[in-house]
Amino acid sequence: MSVLGSLDMYNIPQVCKKCGGVMVFKGVGEYHCEDCGAVDYDDYGKVRCYIETNKGATAAQIEQAIGVSQRTIRRLLKDGRIEITEGSNVFLRCELCGKQIRSGQYCPECEIKAHRNLEEKQRELLHKAVQGFGLEQKSEEGQRRFTRDD
Ligand SMILES: [Zn+2]
Ligand SMILES: [Zn+2]
Repeated sequence: MSVLGSLDMYNIPQVCKKCGGVMVFKGVGEYHCEDCGAVDYDDYGKVRCYIETNKGATAAQIEQAIGVSQRTIRRLLKDGRIEITEGSNVFLRCELCGKQIRSGQYCPECEIKAHRNLEEKQRELLHKAVQGFGLEQKSEEGQRRFTRDD
């Protein structure tokens, strides 16, 4: 385990891209080169800066704009490293009802609904399978059986 622990999964800049100097952590995902003063950010800093200037951006837009994966963005949300600040537009929306959510794909209500939908689809599939079986019975053999019954 490194000193940074789980933090090093956020692509922390360690060496200055301009002069090769050491990047010193300045807080909230921001790093300054101790030699030339160049500023760089880790994934958290990049996302935080992007949200500040692009309020209402979705995880997909952020990924496209700054190249931080949605997986990382969701992890940052889950870890509470980025927050939906009050007064800002929606950052993540429930994919079903559009309600503001902090992480994941669905709000708790829709997550339940999504499960119910899946269960319902599963029932329909089973139902159709039974119906399909019934239709096949009517053709060929079934037909004969019908006429016999009449
Ligand atoms: Zn530098
Ligand atoms: Zn929802």
